[in-house]
Amino acid sequence: MATCVLVLSGLDPGGGAGLLADARAIGSAGAFACGVVTVLTVQSTNGLRRTVPVRASLWTEQARVVLRDQRVSAIKVGALGNAANVRAASALLASHRDIPSVVDPVFVPTRGSGRLLAEGAVATLRRELLPRATLVTANAAEAEALTRARVTNVAEARVAALAIVAMGAHAVLVKGGHLADARATDLLATRDGLIELSSVRLRLRRKIHGAGCILSSLIAGRLAIGNDLPTAVRWAKRKHHNVLRRTVDLGGDLLVLVGPVH
Ligand code: PLP
Repeated sequence: MATCVLVLSGLDPGGGAGLLADARAIGSAGAFACGVVTVLTVQSTNGLRRTVPVRASLWTEQARVVLRDQRVSAIKVGALGNAANVRAASALLASHRDIPSVVDPVFVPTRGSGRLLAEGAVATLRRELLPRATLVTANAAEAEALTRARVTNVAEARVAALAIVAMGAHAVLVKGGHLADARATDLLATRDGLIELSSVRLRLRRKIHGAGCILSSLIAGRLAIGNDLPTAVRWAKRKHHNVLRRTVDLGGDLLVLVGPVH
């Protein structure tokens, strides 16, 4: 019987990030993607222009119907827009503690103006949502925003990873793609310790849109089909690494990952 991942995420009309990208990744991980839109965006591969958060009462009503009637085995949380949505996502995870969750703390886009989470809501996310997450996935900038400390190399990322677990997250993956080190090293920190996942650094000539969304959704998909956390993360990293070699130019300034679709 098929199993679902419920995504709470933004809608990128360009298709490169957010819910549409999440759905492609979850499908490629072997699960079925369901989703609600938490924030509408005006954007394309030329970057983000504007965001409009969706009212929490609407998307939580949608999510609760899916959770009640379908077999949801993982929840992926992406862009939320504002503090009210962060609190609603936290309440939803709290009422489904048996379902593993991957929280991607998306704050600002790779390109464009506008924010995917209001600056004033970062503290709410840190305080209320992180402790509900089975796994938090954070790139260097997100880890800096969460810990309010510099994260520019593996040593600093290690400190940040442990700090995020100390904030209450069950586990965190601090991603090494933007660190200064020669190899790309992600750090998976859990309450049991720290695992280093190192790979060859890919030389990317142009910025890629939606890469973070896709990695967190690949992990959520594998958790949904029953992988334990380290197995899901290792599988997703391997898949993501291969997908990073298969970008597509859709017009505009940013490249988009297509691998999971094909
Ligand atoms: N737009 C939406 C709706 C997203 O959810 C995300 C990422 O989570 C982004 C944009 C970010 O895209 P980028 O990879 O270009 O930073």
